[in-house]
Amino acid sequence: MSDTQTWQKRALDLKPQSQIFIDGKFVDAASGKTFENFSPSDGHLICNVASGDTEDINRAVASAKKAYDSGVWSEMNPRDKKAIMLRWAQLLNEHREELALLEAIDTGRPIADALSVDAPNSARVIQWYGETIDKTYDEIAPAPRNALAMVTREPLGVIGAVVPWNYPMMITSWKLGPALAMGNSIVVKPAENSSLSALKMAELAIAAGLPAGVFNVVPGLGSEAGQALARHMDVAKIAFTGSGPTGRKMMQYAAESNMKQVSLELGGKSPQVVLNDCTDLETAASTIAWAIYYNAGQTCNAGSRIIVEKGVKEELFAHLHKFLESFVVGNQFDPTTQMAGLVSELQRDRVNAYLDLIGQDGEKLIFGGQKTSGKDLLIKPTLIDNVKPDSRLAQEEIFGPVLVAIDAKDEAEALQLANGTEYGLAASVWTNNVARAHKFARKLRAGTVWVNTFDMLDVITPFGGFGASGNGRDKSLHALDAYSALKTTWVDLN
Ligand code: NAD
Repeated sequence: MSDTQTWQKRALDLKPQSQIFIDGKFVDAASGKTFENFSPSDGHLICNVASGDTEDINRAVASAKKAYDSGVWSEMNPRDKKAIMLRWAQLLNEHREELALLEAIDTGRPIADALSVDAPNSARVIQWYGETIDKTYDEIAPAPRNALAMVTREPLGVIGAVVPWNYPMMITSWKLGPALAMGNSIVVKPAENSSLSALKMAELAIAAGLPAGVFNVVPGLGSEAGQALARHMDVAKIAFTGSGPTGRKMMQYAAESNMKQVSLELGGKSPQVVLNDCTDLETAASTIAWAIYYNAGQTCNAGSRIIVEKGVKEELFAHLHKFLESFVVGNQFDPTTQMAGLVSELQRDRVNAYLDLIGQDGEKLIFGGQKTSGKDLLIKPTLIDNVKPDSRLAQEEIFGPVLVAIDAKDEAEALQLANGTEYGLAASVWTNNVARAHKFARKLRAGTVWVNTFDMLDVITPFGGFGASGNGRDKSLHALDAYSALKTTWVDLN
């Protein structure tokens, strides 16, 4: 891997594509408006991004609908569709460094993460769904002998995808993969901070042979482009990942327009439960630290609460301290950096507001906790002990490198605390007892549960939440159902 200066120079030399992508071409916003896109790490102006609004969304949806209705993709021979998806995945891999750089300058994440996780995983998702195209079958129902009843999966039409800034490329790929594999067309509205990787993905899709209009990208403000997409009468489904308040609006927009389907992937406050028969507290501590401090805590399933059964806290904290001594925090372009700054001043100020709460109700700061200001977006890894289960620190998604610790007197209380928020995205439990692990895991109300680990994630398994964490499931073969509708066709054989 290149050194820090080389990456920094490459980032400064980038000339990203920043127009709207409609019908296979880059175009200006109809209004001519743009917004400034600054690098979170050094504040430099990366580029001005076209600011799409209702008119641009109308153009993009019209292009997607035309492509869909023409059958150019929706009715293409599965074998040919698969070949295009696989070629596209190959191009994504070939452009891995550029895509990683785009992601890094937009979000401030460490270049090492963008290179090793975001770019290759996005390519893998496109490849994986490409592979499904000629391997998924429809059904023949067990009807009487004098009839044939076929159950087929039909594409929905035009999909609208609205995505956040924390893992823009990967989350976009989670929508693109199953939506396109099922034969839909799609319009993506990236988050304001992070439009660049989606635009590059679209350019590479066309280069791979995806017909124009099948995949469009309209950057812009949520309240303008995002809302216009979610209210559009020709959009059959909104696939949304983002915050709870915006998720609620998505449901409202759908209800007030064409009752389109809405899938929601929202936030979390994921518990990491350490039961007192866990003997490898060193591994538990390093895993717990990664689970919260990776991407500076800006992860929907971040393990942001530790619930510790009586008897092991002191040793666990000692291991956490030790782990943090060698955890590299700092410059995103240093290939050894494991955690860099937050995505924006707005996000940093949100985290600062939570740090202000420390000590107001008996909380004890174990490490970190210093607020930053101005252009400094780096909040150090923070651990807060003695947090009351019903306090804001324990209940609300902070979306920063802030871990709160809550005591549990026994296993039953640990379970009650773990399930004691409105969220249900992910959870982990640490124990040496396999029966206890299974029983505990079953009772955890979370879309993903890890036993003696955290963050094992792959396209092969579904991802999504319960309760306020949303109702959708990205990834796996199940996501194909989310981008299609079942159709029954009866044939009278008499
Ligand atoms: P956000 O809700 O503010 O924005 C998400 C997207 O919605 C952006 O593209 C934004 O432009 C758009 N948007 C905002 N207001 C809108 C409106 N009124 N109408 C239409 N679109 C609008 O969320 P964020 O701050 O970008 O992302 C962070 C949130 O996303 C966190 O809560 C995090 O937990 C969640 N998240 C969830 C998952 C998951 O899979 N469950 C994954 C990543 C992030």
